[in-house]
Amino acid sequence: MANIIKAIRGMNDTAPTETPLWQWVEGKVRSVLANYGYSEVRMPIVESTPLFARAIGEVTDVVSKEMYTFWDNDEQLTLRPEGTAGCVRAAIENGWSYNNEQRLWYMGPMFRHERPQKGRYRQFHQAGVEIFGIANPEIDAELIILTARLWKELGIDKDVTLQLNSIGSLQARANYRSALVEFLQNHTVLLSDEEKERLVKNPLRILDTKNPELQKVLDDAPKLLDYLDDDSRAHFAQLCALLDSVGIAYEINPKLVRGLDYYNKTVFEWVTTALGAQGTVCGGGRYDGLVEQLGGHATPGVGFAMGLERLVLLVQEVNKNIQLPSAVDIYLVFAGEGTTVAAFQLAEKLRSELPHLRIMTHCSGGNFKKQFKRADKSGAKFALVVGESEVQNGQVVVKDLLGGTEQQTVDMANVVAYLQNKF
Ligand code: ATP
Ligand code: MG
Repeated sequence: MANIIKAIRGMNDTAPTETPLWQWVEGKVRSVLANYGYSEVRMPIVESTPLFARAIGEVTDVVSKEMYTFWDNDEQLTLRPEGTAGCVRAAIENGWSYNNEQRLWYMGPMFRHERPQKGRYRQFHQAGVEIFGIANPEIDAELIILTARLWKELGIDKDVTLQLNSIGSLQARANYRSALVEFLQNHTVLLSDEEKERLVKNPLRILDTKNPELQKVLDDAPKLLDYLDDDSRAHFAQLCALLDSVGIAYEINPKLVRGLDYYNKTVFEWVTTALGAQGTVCGGGRYDGLVEQLGGHATPGVGFAMGLERLVLLVQEVNKNIQLPSAVDIYLVFAGEGTTVAAFQLAEKLRSELPHLRIMTHCSGGNFKKQFKRADKSGAKFALVVGESEVQNGQVVVKDLLGGTEQQTVDMANVVAYLQNKF
C-alpha cells in the first residue's frame, strides 16, 4: 500500500453508499424542471479561456484566481467554473436563442481552484437554468417559484430564505458606483488590502465584506435601490408583487450584488444558516446584456445555479424522513448440479416480468451459508433459493430475510405472481 496515488485535493469520490441520496436529490431537480416544461442541454466541460474572461469578467474572483486553465498547443482552455458562459456560447453558436424563447437546464461538474472546506470544493456540481428571450419579470418570478417548489420537494423549505435585490441597468450601476466609492473614500482605514484593490476595480464587491465593522459602516452607505433606472424599478416592483401574490417570502438585501459581472436588474440568493460559512445554496439573476456581449443578437437572459453538494449536505442535515431505496430487493442463491442455468434463467425472467425490482444473482460460489451471509449484507428483502431438489421439482424457495414470514416453497410457474404481491 506504500506510494498509493490519491485523488486531487478538493475533488471527491462519491461512495456507493452515498449515491442513492445524490440520485434522489438529482431526481427531484429533474422532475421539478420537467414540471415547468424546461429542456435539458449538455455542454462540454472544457471551453476556451477567453469565453469566461469575457462573460464573467476579468476582475471577478472566479476569473482572476479560481480557474483551472491550461494550454492545448496554442489554444488556452479552461475547465468550466460555472455553466452560464458555456450555455450562452452554445445558444449563440447553435442558434437556440435566435428569435426564440428557451427554458434550458443543465447539471454537471464545475471546477474552481478554491480552498477546500465543508460545502466548498474544487470539483463540485451545479444544476443550472438559463432562460433566453424573455424580458418580463414574470419569468424571474417563475424561476424563484420553481426553486421554492424544489426546496419543498427536498424537505428543506423551512431552512432556506430568499434574499432579493435589483442592481439595475449598467448606467444605474455606474452612477451608484461613483457614489459608493465617494462614500468609501472616507472609510479607507477599514478596508483590507484586497478591498482597497476592489475600490478601484470592482467596488460593489466590497458590499460582500465579511468584516463586521465595515458591514456596520455600510449600513449608512448609499443604497443601490435608490439609484435604479425607472425600467429596473418597475421590473423589480412587479417581481415583488408576483412573489407576494403566491406567498413567497423574501428579504430585500440592498448589499446583494453577486460576484459576477454579467448581472443586471434582478439578483437573488437562497441562503441557509444550517451549513456554516457556505450558506448560499442557489444564486441567480438577470443578464440581459450577456448574449450580445458574447457576439449574439441582443437577447434577454435570466438564470440561476444551485450547488448540489450544499443541497445534499442540507438534506442530510434537516430532512430525516427520506426513504431511500436499497440497491437490492431480491438476492438469488444457488448451489448444486444444474442450478446455475436454472438460477440465471429465473433471474432474467424476473427482470423481464418485474422490471421495477432489483435482483442480484450470487456469482462467487461457496456453500449456502456463505451465500446467505452475502444475501443479508445486500439489504435485500427476500432471498430466492435454487438447489438441486428445487430444480428437479420446478420450484424455488423464497426466504424472508427481514424475518417477517416463514420461508415458502413456490412453483416456478407462480413465482412472478408471488413476488408481485410482496413488493
Ligand atoms: P460563494 O459565495 O459560496 O463562493 P459563489 O457566489 O461563488 O458562491 P456562484 O458562482 O453563484 O457561487 O455559484 C452558484 C452556487 O454554486 C453557489 O451558490 C454554491 O451553492 C455553489 N458553489 C459555488 N462554488 C462552489 C464550490 N467551490 N464548492 C461547492 N459549491 C459551490
Ligand atoms: Mg465563490
